Amino acid sequence: MATGFSRIVGVQARYLREGRLGKALRGFTVLAERGLMRLSQPLGVGDHVCCLCGWRGPLFLSAYAYDTYRPGAFCPQCGASEPHRTLKFFLEQELGDYFRETTRAVLDIAPIARSRDLFAFAPVAYTSVDLASPLAQIHGDLGRLCLPDAHFDFVSCFHVLEHIADETAALGEVFRVLRPGGLALLQVSWDPCATETVEYGAPRESEEGHVRRYGRDVAERWTSVGFETLFSRAAYDLDDALVRRHGLDRDLLMLVRKP
Ligand SMILES: [Zn+2]
Repeated sequence: MATGFSRIVGVQARYLREGRLGKALRGFTVLAERGLMRLSQPLGVGDHVCCLCGWRGPLFLSAYAYDTYRPGAFCPQCGASEPHRTLKFFLEQELGDYFRETTRAVLDIAPIARSRDLFAFAPVAYTSVDLASPLAQIHGDLGRLCLPDAHFDFVSCFHVLEHIADETAALGEVFRVLRPGGLALLQVSWDPCATETVEYGAPRESEEGHVRRYGRDVAERWTSVGFETLFSRAAYDLDDALVRRHGLDRDLLMLVRKP
């Protein structure tokens, strides 16, 4: 969703055609951000730091697409968004000792471009898998992974399960490939106001292809296949200045353990 000049102008033009002046004008703010960034970059000023790539500057770039605006969304250098910056911060700060203790076998499901860098602070044995993405080392269905039982110390399943129709099979495979005592990050988009998860029956275009909306029963879904939940508070109890400096979000990071 990172937007270049022509795309921003295109979005503005569409808003103008529809008479949505306020949203069109917001595009100028986003363009001004990019101008500020170009001017300030050579000077090395700014106190925002991307914990994924080390970039330092005056602000993270806003996401501006049709019907989407998020201030402070993207790192200008590596493109990491708030959830991935938060994940990196969490892995290093909260689970750093776990990863540094020994060489951990990590399985990354549906990796993004800089997924490997999430674990750059520790000596991990890294494996990535996806149905078809060229970013993954192995291609396979999450419901039928061609990977050994009880092999991995850590599985990252970051915003994947809300796209998977057969959640039970996917969770079963994550459980199977984890060794006893191993950890899994089962992060999903969820609605903390909803009591129960709602199944859509089919991918919903308006929600980036999600097949369900998770509710507060999400922990029960993880424990139903045998996990112990270790829900982490993530950025909630971090200092505001730290959250601002690294551009973190305050979503709950969902960590579980195989007994
Ligand atoms: Zn970055």
